Amino acid sequence: MCNLRCVFCQNWDISQRGSGPEVDAEGIAGLMLSLQERGCHNINFVTPEHVAPQVVEALAIAIENGLKLPVVYNTGAYDALSSLKLMDGLVDIYMPDFKFWSRQSSARLLKAKDYPERAREAVREMHRQVGDLTFTPDGLACRGVLVRHLVMPGLLDETQEIFRFLAEEVSRDTFVNIMGQYHPDHQVGTMAATGRNAGSARYVEINRCPVGAELEGAYEAARSVGLWRFDQRVL
Ligand code: SF4
Repeated sequence: MCNLRCVFCQNWDISQRGSGPEVDAEGIAGLMLSLQERGCHNINFVTPEHVAPQVVEALAIAIENGLKLPVVYNTGAYDALSSLKLMDGLVDIYMPDFKFWSRQSSARLLKAKDYPERAREAVREMHRQVGDLTFTPDGLACRGVLVRHLVMPGLLDETQEIFRFLAEEVSRDTFVNIMGQYHPDHQVGTMAATGRNAGSARYVEINRCPVGAELEGAYEAARSVGLWRFDQRVL
């Protein structure tokens, strides 16, 4: 289960309801070691905020038993500092997805009005721990922060503020993945059944894909504040 409730969640079928078996710390450690034996390049925890102590316990067992792979911590950036501090020295690569800058958008679309403050704190702490993203000689990411940002329709002003924050308050060398795959999903465009908007489509302002000019605008916003390291696979 994810710790956010994004109304547009692009994978709501697995993020918004419990699925899969419960596994204890020994079991998770065994899975990590099995992935290493099969030749995986890293161990990627996706939105582990609500089970951070259990992840630490599992990593301790796995490292004791020979885990050498980089550990990736992949989140929606809605992370408590107390959880991130538990990860200090254990996580090699942080991949926060910084979604919105304003409290209004965060309250309406993520159901978390304190998201912008929590995300700023989290990204600063992640960068303090591991710095800018670095690569092995053969091109695999091995340590640092990779910030993702999903471009949303009609919200380019928030994109600009997020990139300004990264450039001015984190690092101009921040590696950024600007994602253009947003499409209406989950609750977006569904009909409200109750309340004063009953019968109307919900979240109409984001009920479309971003257009090419918005994606180009996101890159321009990043470059204009000095960011220059982009995930070339999505250009
Ligand atoms: S953070 Fe990602 S997975 Fe979680 S609800 Fe939002 S879009 Fe879905």
